[in-house]
Amino acid sequence: MESACVFCDLIAGRQPASIVLEDELTFAIVDLRQFHPGHVLVMPRRHVNDVRDLDAATGAALMSALSRVTRAVGLAFPNDGLSLWHSIGPAAFQEVPHLHIHVHPRLPGDGFLRVYPGAPPGSDPATRDRYAALLRGQLVAR
Ligand SMILES: [Zn+2]
Repeated sequence: MESACVFCDLIAGRQPASIVLEDELTFAIVDLRQFHPGHVLVMPRRHVNDVRDLDAATGAALMSALSRVTRAVGLAFPNDGLSLWHSIGPAAFQEVPHLHIHVHPRLPGDGFLRVYPGAPPGSDPATRDRYAALLRGQLVAR
């Protein structure tokens, strides 16, 4: 049986993967790209597009696995810090529509992952309070 999702294929063992961790709810593999040694992807076993679709139990398991894997990457590979990221949708360059969090070692001056294309503008406290109120109104428990 062929799945439409490459990560579901890896999780099901239909394609080979270099597995770092797997348990009832989570799965972590070494990424194909190794800009610095130790680039790992941590994901839920269940197919969900992104973090918005997580139930609380899977979310808790995912964060626990992420913490363990990040500790291991930090110990096992040269780094002077680590970056974690999760992309959602085309504007964020999400490549596989199955939630995954990248764990990536960082080295000084590596030029990797510039978060802002330029210096971002600041914001005033009233604007931040307005945004916080807007977001509180959108919080939905799962
Ligand atoms: Zn999937």
